[in-house]
Amino acid sequence: MDDFKYTVQEKISRDPSNTLDVIIVGAGLGGLGAAISVLLAGHNVTVLESASEIGEVGAGIQILPNAARVLFSWGLKDALEKFATKPKKCNFIGWRGNKLSEMDYHAYTQASSSPFWDFHRANLHKCLVDRTLELGGKIMTKARVEALKVAQDQLSATVTLQDGQKLTADLVVGADGINSKLREIFLGHPDPPVLTGDLAYRIILDADEMRKDPELRNFVDEPQVNYWLGPDAHAVNYVLKGGKLFNMVLLVPDDIPEGSNTAEGDVEEMRAYFKDWDPRIGKLLSMCDSVLKWRLCIRPGLEPTWSDPSGAFTLLGDAVHATLPYLASGAGMALEDGSILGLCLARIADKSSASKAQALRVYEACRRERTEKVVKQGTYNQWIYHLHDGDEQQKRDQRLKEFEQWELD
Ligand code: FAD
Repeated sequence: MDDFKYTVQEKISRDPSNTLDVIIVGAGLGGLGAAISVLLAGHNVTVLESASEIGEVGAGIQILPNAARVLFSWGLKDALEKFATKPKKCNFIGWRGNKLSEMDYHAYTQASSSPFWDFHRANLHKCLVDRTLELGGKIMTKARVEALKVAQDQLSATVTLQDGQKLTADLVVGADGINSKLREIFLGHPDPPVLTGDLAYRIILDADEMRKDPELRNFVDEPQVNYWLGPDAHAVNYVLKGGKLFNMVLLVPDDIPEGSNTAEGDVEEMRAYFKDWDPRIGKLLSMCDSVLKWRLCIRPGLEPTWSDPSGAFTLLGDAVHATLPYLASGAGMALEDGSILGLCLARIADKSSASKAQALRVYEACRRERTEKVVKQGTYNQWIYHLHDGDEQQKRDQRLKEFEQWELD
C-alpha cells in the first residue's frame, strides 16, 4: 500500500474585490498547472492556446517525486494513477552494456513520501485539462497571442490575438514555452534560446514486439528507467501505459540545419551512431521505422526579473528556464512554478498593482534559485553523461556505484 504524504488544496472562496481575472498564455503542462493552482486560489482563469487542438507533443514523461507531490496537491492523484507506470528502479549502464549502478526508487519514494511515475504525455495533459475545466477555468484554442500591453494605470494587461481580438486581464502569465513570444515582447527584443549542441531522437516502440525477445522482455515486464552513458551521447528508456508502449530517447550531437528546431531523422544514420553500443540498443533501434530529431536548447534564466513591475505580467516554465532534459525535470519545474504562483496569488488582499507586484516578487524569489540550479545541473549532466572512456569516465562510474549506497533519511 502506497503511503504518500500530501495535502489536497481546497478551492478558496474569495471576495470579488480581490478576485483577479488571469490570462495564461500556453496550454502546455506549465500553463495548465498554473491554471489549476490559480483557480484553486479562487481567481478566474482563461488559458489561451495557439494550437487548434489541445494536446502534447512527444511521448513519455518522467514525473519525479517533487512534481508528483504538486500534482497530488491539486487533487489529481486518483485520476493520474490510472495512467501511471510505476518504475521500480533506475539503471545506469555503460555504453557497451556493462551495468554501472542501480537506484532503488522504492527507497527514494519512502524517503520523500512521493512516487516516481511515468506517463504518456497525452494522458498527463488530459488530466490537467479536465481539472482546469472542472475548477471553472476556460481554455481557448486557435488563440495565438501576438502582442501584450500593460495599461498606463498599471492595473491590467491586454493581449492581442492573431485574429485581432483583444483580451484584458488583471494579470497575464506567459507560459508559452521555450520560444516564448511573450518573453520577447517583455524584453523588447528577440532573445532566442541557447543551443546546447545536442538533439534528441524520440521513439515509441510496441512493448509486445519487445516481449518476443528474451533479452528485451525484462525492460517491459519489470518497469524501470534505463540510462546508457557513452561518448558524446546517451540513451534513456522506460515503459509507458502500463506495459503497452516503450519510450526511448537518444541524445546525440546536434546536426539539424539552421532555421528549424526539428527534422525528419534517418533511421539508418541513427542505428549507425549506436552500432558499437550495447547490442540491446541495436535490437531496439531495429524495431523502429521512422524517427524525428528535436534540437535541444536551454534558457539559463532571465535577469533582473521575470515580471513586470506593474504586477500585471509574469513568465513561467520553459519560457523562462528551459533545461536540458538530462534531469527529467523541465515539466516538474514548470509545475512547481504554477504551484508557487497560485499560493502567492492566494494571499493578495486586493487587486492593486502593489499587491500583485508583491505576489510576483515572492513567486520569483521562491523559484529563481531552484530553477537556475536545475538548468545548470542539466548542462553538467550533459558533460558527465557524455564522457569519453578515460580517467574522468572511470571516476564518474565509481561515483555512480557509490550513489547506490547513499543513506536516505
Ligand atoms: P510547452 O510545453 O512548450 O507549452 C507551451 C504552450 O504554449 C504550447 O502548447 C504552445 O502551443 C503554446 N504557445 C506557444 N506560443 C504561443 C502563443 N504565442 N500564443 C498562445 N499559445 C502559445 N520534463 C520532465 O519533467 N520530465 C521528463 O521526463 C522530461 N523529458 C523530456 C524529454 C525531452 C526529449 C524534452 C525535449 C523535454 C523533456 N522534459 C521533461 C521537459 C518538458 O517537456 C518541458 O519542460 C515542459 O513541457 C515545458 O512546459 P511549458 O508548459 O513551459 O512549455
